[in-house]
Amino acid sequence: MSLKLKKNKWKFKSIKFRVFLLILIFGITPMMVMRIGILRNFERREVESKTTQIATQAKLLAAQIASSNYLTKQNSEVINAEVVQLSGLYDGRIMIIDENYAIVKDTYDMDEGKIITSNEVVTSFQGKSTSRYDRKLGYLEMTLPITNPTTQKVMGVFVVNMSSNTIMTNYEYYRGQANIFTLILGILIVVGAIAFSELLVVPLKKLRYTLNQRRNGLADEAVNTKGCQEVEDIAEEINGLITSMKVLDESRQEFVSNVSHELKTPITSMKVLADSLLAQEDAPAELYREFMEDIAAEVERESKIISDLLSLVKMDKSAAKPDIALVNINELLEVIMKRIEPIAKTANVELVLESFRPVSAEVDEVKLSLAFSNLIENAVKYNKEEGGWVRVTLNADHQYFYLTVEDSGIGIPEDSINHVFERFYRVDKSHSREIGGTGLGLAITRNSILLHKGAIKVHSELNVGTTFSVRIPLNYINN
Ligand code: ADP
Repeated sequence: MSLKLKKNKWKFKSIKFRVFLLILIFGITPMMVMRIGILRNFERREVESKTTQIATQAKLLAAQIASSNYLTKQNSEVINAEVVQLSGLYDGRIMIIDENYAIVKDTYDMDEGKIITSNEVVTSFQGKSTSRYDRKLGYLEMTLPITNPTTQKVMGVFVVNMSSNTIMTNYEYYRGQANIFTLILGILIVVGAIAFSELLVVPLKKLRYTLNQRRNGLADEAVNTKGCQEVEDIAEEINGLITSMKVLDESRQEFVSNVSHELKTPITSMKVLADSLLAQEDAPAELYREFMEDIAAEVERESKIISDLLSLVKMDKSAAKPDIALVNINELLEVIMKRIEPIAKTANVELVLESFRPVSAEVDEVKLSLAFSNLIENAVKYNKEEGGWVRVTLNADHQYFYLTVEDSGIGIPEDSINHVFERFYRVDKSHSREIGGTGLGLAITRNSILLHKGAIKVHSELNVGTTFSVRIPLNYINN
């Protein structure tokens, strides 16, 4: 037995580790999802606001271009200056395309005169504006139609192409902030998860500690762990278990001392008888005979106690499995009655068996026969001296069979009625001993009936009689 308690380690199997992992998963995952969601949303909104900003100004410029002859001559200094200013403002490139898809103005002065037929340009020639954001290549592109104000005909297309650097700079700044925030929150979650999982197992640790103290005999009081309902419940169950183990241990000790006492009594008598014979030098043969008869009676008694004890042990639930077979209970009772008949006759007791119907049940014939014999024998043994009777009845329904053993005997006093099934219990020790009782008969009967998942009840009236009622399932219940 070790006095030391092994430390609660952070093993995968431990509740502590699992709770920690759960908190971590459920704490960090939403945080990461939120972080990504917020940043994405921020980027989308930045792109949208930049796009509307540029679109407003580009639309104004496109309207100006439409109402001038800029597309054919590009001779407006004002428009040229405005185009350059706009491209400068957003650090981008503006291209103006005429109805022949030819670039008439390029603020980068690179592609003027070239033909451009990209999808976006074609779409804008059909009267629609387009905008495209390419995160990887880092640019934002917009195209919008230049529409003749009177004919509503598309005369050209206005293309703005700008780098998304400014958006990304803002984005990176917020991402940095979010990273710091995530790190701090992450550390808080980890620390919180460790603290919480440690705290959660504190009552369990306490429970383990008190149990260990008890096991090692360092504490005797009830296991007591306050603070957590589940652990309190477990502690209560353990206390119940300890109490029933104590009761079991006490009853075992009592049984052992009773057995020793019961076994010693006949031996002491035999020793007294033998010693007194030996003490007389010339004891007559008749005295020898008389004493030897007494010794033989004590030997028989000793042997009866031993055989009853063996029956009791065999009847124990944990002992070997019962030998179950379909038995005709009517016949079984007739055999028992026949065997007891001579004893009843000697005791002047009338024995009656009333079977209300044929009964067959799955039982252990030997064990059940012992139980029934004990009941009927007792009814004869503890009967009145003259004109006594014993009535045995057998009945059944679809589930159980019922046996009653009724007698006109001495009855059992009220304060004893709850004890008669206890091992070695006898209402009147000397009377029971006189008629060869060991106090084990009813304990054997009860164990046998419980082995068959049955029930036994007793009803008695002093000096009127006693009735034992037994109920046993027709089909053996195996568990
Ligand atoms: P015993 O071997 O002494 O008969 P049992 O266990 O069979 O032991 O019975 C326990 C005690 O219960 C008996 O000593 C007796 O006092 C009482 N008892 C049992 N059956 C009857 C009965 N039918 N009528 C009156 N007393 C009974």
